[in-house]
Amino acid sequence: MIMGEGGRYDVIILGAGAAGLLCAITAAKRGVSVLVLEKSNKVGKKILMSGGGRCNFTNRYISADNFVSSNPHFCKSALARFTQWDFIDMVDRYKIQYEERKHGQLFCVNSAKDILGMLLCECEKFGVQIKTHIELVSLKSITTTKGASFKLSITQSNQGINRRELFGKSIVVATGALSVPTLGGSGKGYDIAKQFGLRVRPRSAGLVPLMFDGPMKELCKVLSGVSLEVEVSCGGKMFSEKLLFTHRGISGPAILQISNYWQPDCALEINLMPSLDAVKLLQSLKKEQPSSVLRIALRPHFPKALVLELQQIWWSDLDDRPLAEFTNKRLEAIGRNLNGWVLKPSASEGYRTAEVTLGGVDTNELSSQSMEAKRQAGLFFIGEVVDVTGHLGGFNFQWAWSSGHAAGLFV
Ligand SMILES: Cc1cc2nc3c(=O)[nH]c(=O)nc-3n(C[C@H](O)[C@H](O)[C@H](O)COP(=O)(O)OP(=O)(O)OC[C@H]3O[C@@H](n4cnc5c(N)ncnc54)[C@H](O)[C@@H]3O)c2cc1C
Repeated sequence: MIMGEGGRYDVIILGAGAAGLLCAITAAKRGVSVLVLEKSNKVGKKILMSGGGRCNFTNRYISADNFVSSNPHFCKSALARFTQWDFIDMVDRYKIQYEERKHGQLFCVNSAKDILGMLLCECEKFGVQIKTHIELVSLKSITTTKGASFKLSITQSNQGINRRELFGKSIVVATGALSVPTLGGSGKGYDIAKQFGLRVRPRSAGLVPLMFDGPMKELCKVLSGVSLEVEVSCGGKMFSEKLLFTHRGISGPAILQISNYWQPDCALEINLMPSLDAVKLLQSLKKEQPSSVLRIALRPHFPKALVLELQQIWWSDLDDRPLAEFTNKRLEAIGRNLNGWVLKPSASEGYRTAEVTLGGVDTNELSSQSMEAKRQAGLFFIGEVVDVTGHLGGFNFQWAWSSGHAAGLFV
C-alpha cells in the first residue's frame, strides 16, 4: 500500500508510547506503511518520566514469574521472541550509556530522553508517520475492495482538522492504561476491546503506595521520610526491599512490589528485622543489657523515630522500665511483632500515582504469538492495556517492547 495514499495505511497504531513505538518500528522495518496516532501533545511521556527521568528500560533477569496476569503463561512467547538482550542490543547500537542497579535493573546514565530519541530515530529511519493531538472519534470494521479492514474517524486539534477519515488494514491498540492520567493514562483501549466484543478483566492500580486510616495514618505521618529494609508479604508473595513511610501511608520498592498482590481488606505482614530472629535478639538483649530500656537497646537496629513509634504501640506501659523487668512472654510478643507486623491498609493511592494498571484486555481473547484478537482479524492489543503487569524493575517496559515487537511482525 502506498504511504498514506487517500488516508490508507497498512497499519494504524493508536498510542505513541513504549509499546506503540516499538511496534511501529518492527512493522515499518518489514516495509509496510505505518501511521501512529497519539492523543496528547507529545509522544512517549511515560518513557520520559520513568525511572526518575533515567528510564529503567529493562532488566537483566526476566522470566514469566516477574509478571502478574490471569494467565501467567501468556507473556512467555512474546518475551522469548524479543528479549531484554534484543532491546539492549538496540541501546548499544545507539551508544546510549546505561548502568546496572540492584536486582539487574538497567537505567540510562544520562536521561530517559536517550531511549525516546532512539525510538523516534528508528521510526524516522523506517518511514513511520506520527501524528499528535489526535482524538479518535470512531473505529469501525469494514469490508472494501481496496483491502482496508478498518475505518477511523479522527480530529486533530493542532491542525484545526474537524474530522478526517483514515483506513487501515490492521489496527494496533497501544493506548496504555489508567495509571497517571496526566501522562496519557486512558481507558480508550478497554472501550475499543469491548466494542469488538472482547472481555476486559477488572482493573486496579498497581505498583502504588498504600494508605491507612486512623492511628496508623498518624504514625506514618510522624515517620514520613523514614525508610528501612524489610521483608513484606501478602497473597503468598514476598519481597525484600526498602519500605518508606509517607505522610499518607507506606511506599518504597517493597510496598510498590507487594501492591500488585494486595487486595482491599487484606493485611500485609512486614518483617522489620528480616535477617534476625527478633525474639532471640530481645532475649539476648535482656541478658546482656538488663538495666537498659528497650528503645535504647534497639537503637542499633532501627531509625530512632521508628523505635519511638513502635514503643508507643507495643510497650508504652514499660517505656522507662529496664529490660530485666520485661517478662519473657512479653518479649516474645514484641519479637513476633517485629518479625511480622500485621497491617491492614485502607486503600491504595489509586491511579493518580500508580505506575501501572493491573488487569485489562483478557489474554484469552488474544493470540500470544501475535497479540491479534481472536474474535476480530486485524485488531491487535499491546502493552499495558493487556492483562499483563510487570513487577517493579524494568519489567513493564520489557513487556511493552516484547508485545509491541510480537504484533509488529504480524500486522
Ligand atoms: C511515573 C512512572 C514511572 C515509570 N517508570 C517505569 C520504569 O522505570 N520502568 C518500567 O519498566 N516501567 C515504568 N513505568 C511503567 C511504564 O511506563 C508503562 O508500563 C509503559 O509505558 C506502558 O507502555 P504502553 O505503550 O502500553 O503505554 P504508554 O507508555 O502509557 O503509552 C500509551 C500512549 O497512548 C496514548 N493514548 C491514550 N489514549 C489514546 C487515544 N485514545 N488515542 C491515541 N493515543 C492515546 C497516551 O497518550 C500514551 O502516549 C512507569 C510508569 C509511570 C507512570
